Amino acid sequence: MSQARNHIVVMKFGGTSVEDARAMLRTAAIVRGRRERGLGAVVVVSAMAKVTDQLLAAAAAAGRGDKAGALAIASRLRHRHVDTAAELLDETGFSALEPAIGLEFDALDDLLRGIAAVGELTPRTSDNVVSFGERLSSRMVAAAFAQHGLEGVHVDARTCIVTDDHYGKAAPIEAAIEAKLLDLVLPLVEAGQTPVMGGFIGANAEGITTTLGRGGSDYTAALVGGGLHAGAIEIWTDVNGIMTTDPRICADALRVKTISFEEAAELAYFGAKVLHPATILPAVQKSIPVWVLNSRNPENEGTKITAMAPPCASPFKSIAAKKRLTIIDVVASRMLMTHGYLKAVFDVFDKYHCAIDMVSTSEVSISVTVDSNERLPEICADLGKIADVKYEGHKALVCLVGEDIRGRSGMSGRVFSAIRHINIRMISQGASEINMSFMIEESDVEEAIRSLHAEFFAEPDPTVFDVEARVAVKV
Ligand code: ADP
Ligand code: ASP
Ligand code: MG
Repeated sequence: MSQARNHIVVMKFGGTSVEDARAMLRTAAIVRGRRERGLGAVVVVSAMAKVTDQLLAAAAAAGRGDKAGALAIASRLRHRHVDTAAELLDETGFSALEPAIGLEFDALDDLLRGIAAVGELTPRTSDNVVSFGERLSSRMVAAAFAQHGLEGVHVDARTCIVTDDHYGKAAPIEAAIEAKLLDLVLPLVEAGQTPVMGGFIGANAEGITTTLGRGGSDYTAALVGGGLHAGAIEIWTDVNGIMTTDPRICADALRVKTISFEEAAELAYFGAKVLHPATILPAVQKSIPVWVLNSRNPENEGTKITAMAPPCASPFKSIAAKKRLTIIDVVASRMLMTHGYLKAVFDVFDKYHCAIDMVSTSEVSISVTVDSNERLPEICADLGKIADVKYEGHKALVCLVGEDIRGRSGMSGRVFSAIRHINIRMISQGASEINMSFMIEESDVEEAIRSLHAEFFAEPDPTVFDVEARVAVKV
């Protein structure tokens, strides 16, 4: 393994951390703080808050042939970006950047017109449209850093984040990324500059734009940190760190001071939006600590994600929920499941690249939960050839995570008694020793989480949870 570059920190700022000129200036102050400690920073930014959703809406409108609707969204975005740049930069900085912003928006308009003319939106074109968010925010932040003495320099992420061509959720090719980073980004840091690149976006071997999936800027940060063998990866967001549950559901959620990679990965996979599920892997492979920090409260210590969690007197660290799931019940037509039956069922999901979250089986039936409804009709049609199939949407999975449930008895009793008033649809039979999860109706999620939070975080271990702090609730 090559040596860690402990003098480099990769700092990722999410959408709310670059939502307007003031937020972008806050990021400049935070980066300055790191540089004053003698560190070199590589900065990864998301699109400005809500821009990704608006670009997707524009793409969808164009795909329906609604050219005027699509261009109207693009025009609003153009104004927001130009106005932000005008507020952010001095006259020289603004006049240098404005033409580049204009050219990007002209290209976006052309693209939307093209989509509207053919009336069809392919995943490849959708990635191209949505990439404009990060392309623009990264140019603006780089220009602000240049103006504020941080030697900001823009790097187009598509020149270094090499992916396969699975549009919409492309898989990164880590060896190629590492080579590009060492070639294009490392020399900038070593020269005292601050490279700024957009998260979420990449390009395949032919140079065609791809994206890493929603929330993918965290993943970019981990890939960049991993590729450069950085000393730390910092995920700057709008809450004080990883909390005992989503603070939007429970206002008394507490910051978790330290959490293990395994626990954080489990939480992210099961719906805690604060981290992208794939973020952890490149960091774990190279043992790079990851911090989750609050750009609105940079003095707060945040959450440190490390290989080993310190011992904790509380059984769980956090509670997550994943909504918009569907339960599919597959009942064998004959009483006994024949040899090869389970394989035949799972082969159908595999054929449509449909990931399964939870499985429960009885003698004649298999219930599985999936989070994507896209291929449901085809999946059910195929399953219908070997079994009776029914499905029900609007389900949610609630998951309690903590390494300290290993070897403890009575935990499921406490969990299910805290939510005895809620109808439970399925219980996990998973092998993971660090989570307990179950399926409920989507409409019961908030109530279930509040009840569980009250049960398990009434007297939290003060060595692991920030019991004194008040939570910064998103407004
Ligand atoms: P960013 O734009 O910075 O990537 P996100 O909106 O993707 O930010 O993620 C941060 C949000 O994640 C928080 O505002 C919070 O509402 C939500 N969240 C969900 N679960 C948790 C949790 N366990 N701890 C902290 N935040 C959580
Ligand atoms: N802008 C992208 C999204 O909203 C990626 C990210 O912010 O992580 O999904
Ligand atoms: Mg995010």
